[in-house]
Amino acid sequence: MDDVDHAAERRRLVEHLRRRTDASERTLSAIAAVPRHEFVPDGDRAHAYADRPLPIGHGQTISAPHMVAVMVDLLEVSSGDRVFEVGTGCGYHAAVVAEIVGPGNVYSVEYVPELADAARDRLDRLGYDVTVRAGDGRTAFAERAPFDAAYLTCAAPGAVPDEIVERTRVGGRVVAPVESNDDAGGLLGGVGTGRSAASQRLVRLTVRDDGVDREDHGAVRFVPMR
Ligand code: SAH
Repeated sequence: MDDVDHAAERRRLVEHLRRRTDASERTLSAIAAVPRHEFVPDGDRAHAYADRPLPIGHGQTISAPHMVAVMVDLLEVSSGDRVFEVGTGCGYHAAVVAEIVGPGNVYSVEYVPELADAARDRLDRLGYDVTVRAGDGRTAFAERAPFDAAYLTCAAPGAVPDEIVERTRVGGRVVAPVESNDDAGGLLGGVGTGRSAASQRLVRLTVRDDGVDREDHGAVRFVPMR
């Protein structure tokens, strides 16, 4: 009976995303297939299908479903593509991507070992063949490069680290929140805070032979990359 309720809630969430975002049907089908309530802490299950971020412990959060939808769409991956994720968290976003690219094609690294262990067990129990490793996104899975696409679920300071761009094949995409110090008001601006405000933008890089093309996809709010 629990399952029936969750399935209905999930259908309502997908209807909401279809109305409110430009997400492709492929991305919406992936979201429709992943049991989000299995990824959130017990106390938050009632909100699992609300379109908002939720805490997942260790000061980290699972992104709101519309943000996952936007990011998955921007990645432009299809069945068989190999994808690198930085910031496994609870594993939800990785599961959505795995629905599209298929088993064995998602490689995910998580900085907090306890979150990595829990996500690995959860993904395995739910039947997702995702490779999860504890470590730093700047160095993990270098031996698995090149990837068809990569994304960060934590905000990179200043720019996407070169190591991550270099692990993506030419023509591939990197989608990431990037934090910049917006000091348009000068060092002493910002209403007397004494420091400039940090702002994050969602960016998509397309890797070229001689560099990257960069697109801006608006203001976002993610936990910082460590
Ligand atoms: N995609 C996740 C969201 C996780 S929040 C989900 O669906 O739940 C972002 C995660 O990035 C946090 O768990 C944080 O610990 C992790 N993180 C931060 N800096 C990192 C780094 N340098 N390398 C790998 N993971 C990092």
